[in-house]
Amino acid sequence: MDIVLGIIIFLFIIFVMYNLFAIVRIFVKWYFGDFFNRYLLVARLDPLYKKPIQKYLKYYQQLNPSDKGIFEKRVQKFINQKQFVARGMKTISDEMKALIAGSAIQLTFGYPSIYFTHFKRILVYPDSYYSEISQQYHKGEVNMGGLIVLSWKNFVEGYIDYEDGINLGIHEMAHALRLENAIANEEYGFLDDEVLRKWTDLSFQEISKMNEGESDFFRTYAATNSQEFFAVAVENFFEKSTDFYDWHPEMYNTLVKILNQNPLTLGRLS
Ligand SMILES: [Zn+2]
Repeated sequence: MDIVLGIIIFLFIIFVMYNLFAIVRIFVKWYFGDFFNRYLLVARLDPLYKKPIQKYLKYYQQLNPSDKGIFEKRVQKFINQKQFVARGMKTISDEMKALIAGSAIQLTFGYPSIYFTHFKRILVYPDSYYSEISQQYHKGEVNMGGLIVLSWKNFVEGYIDYEDGINLGIHEMAHALRLENAIANEEYGFLDDEVLRKWTDLSFQEISKMNEGESDFFRTYAATNSQEFFAVAVENFFEKSTDFYDWHPEMYNTLVKILNQNPLTLGRLS
């Protein structure tokens, strides 16, 4: 009899403990969920995503081992948070997801808690696509509705030549970064206003020089408006860092402050 009672009590304790654990788990997830999500990186990068990152992302290749680890986990987290949608093709490959997430993490590497929360969906077309709104063919865009749209062909070309100052992924992620900073959500206002004001002054000075035909470091598209100027400048910041710094150290250093990282010292152990 004592043994039966003992077993019953034992099973009861197990039952309570198990449920207690579940209750505590639910509470921890509810209370600390956002904290873990924002500041801790738990998931390791799936090898299917790691391979293309190692093979094609020059930025990642230049990082030191500890930064590589952070970069990988951040890529996995970005992929987990976004919905990738194929347009004009059957599916989105693992390689597409990995490299697109990689370009976003490259842009936000100086801001560990920024994941472009506003942008939940990433649309990928095989090539340039026709926009009914602008009635033109586009290679990519980032819109206030929360979409990042990319032409895969142009995205890949950006990374094949990583020294020409043209990179669609970096360009669109640069737009996403500025919009994310300006949209009222939990990631609002992560960029320093003072530095942004300085950047705006420098941009307008340079745009007017370009319009006067007095400066041609950036491609002419940069002079379209201040948003395009920023996106093109960021492409050059990563792909032609040394030339950019030599040409205009003040502008280069302002971008270092905006992005909170410096491609010229990439991979150095801090
Ligand atoms: Zn643009």
